[in-house]
Amino acid sequence: MAVKFTPTQYEGDYARAPVFKTALPGPKTKALIERDAKFVSPSYTRDYPLAAQRGRGAVVEDPDGNLFLDFSAGIAVVSTGHCHPEVVKTIREAAGELIHMSGTDFYYPAQVNLGEALARLYNGGDAKVFFANSGTEANEAALKLAKYATKRHQFLAFTGCFHGRTLGSLSLTASRAVQRAGFFPTLPGVTHLQYPNPVRPPYGASAGKAVDAVLDHLENVIFRQLIDPRDLAGVFVEAVQGEGGYVIPPADFLPRLHAILKKHGILLICDEVQAGMGRTGKMFAYEHFGITPDIVTTAKGIASGLPLGAMIARADLMTWPPGAHASTFGGNPIACAAALTTIELLENGLMDNCDAMGRRIVEKLKPLASSSPVVADVRGLGLMIGIELVKDRKTMAYAPELREKIINGCFAKGLLLLGCGPTTIRFCPPLVINEREADRACEIFTAVAREVGG
Ligand code: PLP
Repeated sequence: MAVKFTPTQYEGDYARAPVFKTALPGPKTKALIERDAKFVSPSYTRDYPLAAQRGRGAVVEDPDGNLFLDFSAGIAVVSTGHCHPEVVKTIREAAGELIHMSGTDFYYPAQVNLGEALARLYNGGDAKVFFANSGTEANEAALKLAKYATKRHQFLAFTGCFHGRTLGSLSLTASRAVQRAGFFPTLPGVTHLQYPNPVRPPYGASAGKAVDAVLDHLENVIFRQLIDPRDLAGVFVEAVQGEGGYVIPPADFLPRLHAILKKHGILLICDEVQAGMGRTGKMFAYEHFGITPDIVTTAKGIASGLPLGAMIARADLMTWPPGAHASTFGGNPIACAAALTTIELLENGLMDNCDAMGRRIVEKLKPLASSSPVVADVRGLGLMIGIELVKDRKTMAYAPELREKIINGCFAKGLLLLGCGPTTIRFCPPLVINEREADRACEIFTAVAREVGG
């Protein structure tokens, strides 16, 4: 019997979060943050002092007993909510059977079962899957497979897209300069194009001509003046841009791009690490645009919080021999089991909930785009929702300080949010949120946005 999604059963105060027991941050949280400063890498970005002790559904409790509404989902990861009872049951059972064996050298059922499930979701089953531990590793695998399968060595990627932080993926990442600063040289042979952002159109185009401008640049500048298309192995792209600002491209972008690439034997590699696994209301975000990429990478939401990444490719591309690529921990049995339960929940009600809650939130927040002087755009697919802030709507000038104030103001009222891109706030809650939680988050956000931005 497939596991079906049912609404979270909260106990006590969790049903009415946010609830405060102390001023923020409380004494236990403060003490933890002091120790973190001493012993943990300062490279992590912490916008506000939230420490998590316990989580249920869309609610996180800090060490001081304060309850927050979590609209960050651990950076778009806990798709089934914090500690979904079916996922916890699966993890407990799997841990009691087999913790590790290494799919690199041996076989075990959970990895084969998940490979079969992902191949089915991607193209009905004519695909093979490489297992990793994270998004960046899934993209490293895609880089290597594309090189191996095409015998070509160069890549294109898009500004604003984020593909990870290990050196191969970092060469593709073009989201924030700080992520690359100090790490040169990255991989040679990666060239970037502008992403067809309809709110901030590329190459001086009008909004309606964003795709024309990008594809014109591809064919008439890149292919004619810079790179012979026969040298290009693949193009990496996010079907909906995540870290770069929750940007939804025009509907014809991916189909037209794919058609051009096919003519030249260049692979389209869709990074679904953030947008995939149901977050946009479909299993993969590219499904909104009617294409099937040649290679897909996924991670984040795939295993409800356990570390797992996957690179899914057309079966005919997986020509690499034993030893060409592998990972000791990739596709760990417990993580694969958690992913299988996650997929069951997504397919049996959770993606529908995501779609309905996403529409509800966009409908509630959309009026801000005309009534608030600092909100330029409210956009979303499923529960991947971006609110773009500006100093004023005429100049469209970025407003990072304002964003910081709003994010901190929401934290003070018990709503956990994250920024993305130069000037956007993202709503990426667990896909299990209910109507009360969606409405409460919109109320808090609207009140703070009005307080801070007028
Ligand atoms: N690709 C995308 C689209 C992402 O959003 C991220 C992480 O935010 C990554 C890749 C990298 O994933 P990880 O942090 O698991 O390496």
